[in-house]
Amino acid sequence: MPTTSALRTYEVKTFGCQMNVHDSERLRGSLEEAGYAEAVDGRPDVIVINTCAVRENADQKLYGHLGHLAKTKRERPGFQIAVGGCLAQKDRASIVDRAPWVDVVFGTHNIGSLPTLLERSRHNGEAEVEILEALEVFPSTLPTKRESTYAGWVSISVGCNNTCTFCIVPSLRGKERDRRPGEILAEVQALVDDGALEVTLLGQNVNSYGVEFGDRLAFGKLLRAAGEIDGLERIRFTSPHPAAFTDDVIDAMAETEAVMPQLHMPLQSGSDRVLRAMRRSYRSARFLGILDRVRERIPHAAITTDIIVGFPGETDEDFEETMRVVEASRFASAFTFQYSIRPGTPAATMPDQVPKEVVQERFERLVALQDRISFEENRAQVGRTVDVLVSVGEGKKDAETHRLSGRAEDNRLVHFAPGAESPRPGDIATVRVTHAAPFHLLADEGPIAVRRTRAGDAWDRSQADSCGVPAPVGGGAAGAGAGRPVSLGLPTLRIGT
Ligand code: SF4
Repeated sequence: MPTTSALRTYEVKTFGCQMNVHDSERLRGSLEEAGYAEAVDGRPDVIVINTCAVRENADQKLYGHLGHLAKTKRERPGFQIAVGGCLAQKDRASIVDRAPWVDVVFGTHNIGSLPTLLERSRHNGEAEVEILEALEVFPSTLPTKRESTYAGWVSISVGCNNTCTFCIVPSLRGKERDRRPGEILAEVQALVDDGALEVTLLGQNVNSYGVEFGDRLAFGKLLRAAGEIDGLERIRFTSPHPAAFTDDVIDAMAETEAVMPQLHMPLQSGSDRVLRAMRRSYRSARFLGILDRVRERIPHAAITTDIIVGFPGETDEDFEETMRVVEASRFASAFTFQYSIRPGTPAATMPDQVPKEVVQERFERLVALQDRISFEENRAQVGRTVDVLVSVGEGKKDAETHRLSGRAEDNRLVHFAPGAESPRPGDIATVRVTHAAPFHLLADEGPIAVRRTRAGDAWDRSQADSCGVPAPVGGGAAGAGAGRPVSLGLPTLRIGT
């Protein structure tokens, strides 16, 4: 690793999905291992933009950002700009054609090369563009600087073997590559040893995990094996695919205490005709059957989804089918998207693109329907007692309202009054839900109980490290109390955007 970069500072800006946020943790880890430090003064020597090609107008946003950075580049000798992620994988050298002041372009398959590319660009005084067609090093084997002390992500696979016609992922992230279970479990164990209580297993299509080494039941087995790890209290995963979601996974979820009662199950459309055009191989009846079986085994499961409105050729009847399936599904919440053309995808050149005003009108009806259902489902939570893993950065108004925030077991966002024994991020607060809103729950009576955890201790240590105060080590519930730095749980960690 290069050492000439010592004392140089960096900032990573992240766009897009959880996969990108996780990749940014690897980018930070790789940079820090190479001697860089995270900028704390807003004046980094290196800015890294981890781009997304899935979201609408991604390229306009990127070039808008780069336009602003051109001035900094002119004014500050030694300032470097690196662009990575899906849009970089897609646009490659055309990024330096359009923005010649960019120093480094790297793709989704070589995030570990960033420090070397930065050094090479500084040394040679010219832009370095390196895009690989396939993965050389599995990203999870790179050093990581984690965003959170109490929760972490672990990639189980990258890439996707499906060919959904609206999606650019297969062409940018390649075919599915699975990590071996032993490696995944070792990484989960390392996170737990570091203080994490919660792990989210990450892949473009988690339940096809095992396809590469020929075990169709591998994902359910992985959930069960992770559930055996001592100290791991919460296991989540994203995203499954309805086509390959089999009952052994539902059984593993129901029978593994640490797997949380939550499922993100992308519907995309309720119309079988549109699903066919999207090249999604399940149909709405199968989708609803999965939800029934999940709820039968896990009665309080909160199920969320993704839906695209206005896919090419979507008729009024197709859209009414989506409304019907959404009504029947009782999702806790939904990410709803208006279809827009993504260059490079098969759907981009399909005939019968739906006019913008029609998409808008359907979208508003769908959002209104889902908001009503979310509110009804949240109201049904009032009076329940839930365990909240206290988090940072999730309650934007916490400082004003004097509340803390976190996630219940089913991943619902809960804002709560801290009570006498203010829990730290990473601690577990047991609260009674007193009010519901469409997008969160409130618990205004203060916690019934607070469990101080290893994750809370890890949070204390990270806070003490960052301000130079020596931290007490160990403890958990037994170690709580006198002499411990008091944390108000206010957001201070930077969360990727
Ligand atoms: S399953 Fe479909 S939407 Fe998901 S990553 Fe693969 S191709 Fe894209």
